[in-house]
Amino acid sequence: MDHDHVRDVDPAVADALESEIDRQRSTLQMIASENHASRAVVDAQGSVMTNKYAEGYPGSRYYGGCEYADEVEELAIERATELFGADHVNVQPHSGTQANQAVYFAMLEPGDKILSLDLTHGGHLSHGHPANFVGQLYEVEQYEVDPETGYLDYEGLAEHAEEFDPDIIVSGYSAYPREVEWDRIQEAADSVDAYHLADIAHITGLVAAGVHETPVGTADFVTGSTHKTIRAGRGGIVMCDEEYADDIDSAVFPGGQGGPLMHNVAGKAVGFKEALEPDFEAYARQTVANAKALGEQLADNGFSLVSDGTDNHLVLVDLRESHPDTSGGDAEDALEEAGIVLNGNTVPGETRSAFDPSGIRAGTAALTTRGFDEADCRTVADLITRVVDAPDDESVVAEVREDVEQLCDENPLYE
Ligand SMILES: *Cc1c(COP(=O)(O)O)cnc(C)c1O
Repeated sequence: MDHDHVRDVDPAVADALESEIDRQRSTLQMIASENHASRAVVDAQGSVMTNKYAEGYPGSRYYGGCEYADEVEELAIERATELFGADHVNVQPHSGTQANQAVYFAMLEPGDKILSLDLTHGGHLSHGHPANFVGQLYEVEQYEVDPETGYLDYEGLAEHAEEFDPDIIVSGYSAYPREVEWDRIQEAADSVDAYHLADIAHITGLVAAGVHETPVGTADFVTGSTHKTIRAGRGGIVMCDEEYADDIDSAVFPGGQGGPLMHNVAGKAVGFKEALEPDFEAYARQTVANAKALGEQLADNGFSLVSDGTDNHLVLVDLRESHPDTSGGDAEDALEEAGIVLNGNTVPGETRSAFDPSGIRAGTAALTTRGFDEADCRTVADLITRVVDAPDDESVVAEVREDVEQLCDENPLYE
């Protein structure tokens, strides 16, 4: 993967692009929200569609010359419809955050009430955190997971909904390792006449493959990102029943965005085609099997996992008991030195801060893309253990870095 055209104009950026490819090839990407898109998706996203203005929707644009933009967007919509089984799909949101904002803007008035999961318990900034405008425009209360088990507390959520009487309940999370029972959240929403937005950003690929139960057909609105467990390039998506289609479409454009990023829509179309191939289901199953193997080995090595394990692509490790003197930030830094890239993360009942939390979150979506199996993931768990047991020991970090490079060589990327 060279960037000769960039290099001719701008060697500094070309150097950074090539260094980034080397970084992805030679280190383990375990940030749970990341993956490696195929060359086909990367090419589509890096295409001349970036030049095209296509405000509007296929067949009804505000600009001329949109016939190929229409083709690309129609393909993305058709494929997403087939993958997820939704009545209506909008593939234009620039990101998962903007997909969520479109739902709020379509269905709520300023001052309306949102009930969503607390950020430190696995929620997302776009679910009403005060640092996002959503948190300032609407009245937000938050539910929590059960502090003992780490599982969602569906009864507590239903009681909270009775008291707060929200206009919308948001489900779907950034750091929740367990299967979500969408129908129980829908029941809580129905009982207070609220909408239900299921944000499957992290598990879009698992849902597409049928490896996680789908909220489509249960929740009123389903949003997702297209670059996490599905490999369709950076972006967002909104799905809903036909009755809300016009409201959602006008909330995406012109409500929250201008012209769609047609190069990203092209990437989505290609990535969705790949996800419709039979081997995508095998990929999604392997991703989950790998996360389970990673979690089991970490637990065997003495770590405690929030909820004691995982049903999806990520594990959340609470370091407080096993490594009381090591924060999630310390662990993240030492692991990065060793070539294992993941993030410090808050855990339920957080006692440190969001900037230097008590846990680490690790995902297997990107490792699985480059060919890792359960045995490899157990090896990775052992490498993580060696580093987190001795984060200040430079010789340990250097040894692990070598083992990481060997694993990377055995599982090459972007050949
Ligand atoms: C990642 C994520 C999003 C989308 O994030 P963007 O960076 O805006 O694409 C939305 N919701 C949840 C729960 C997420 O984890």
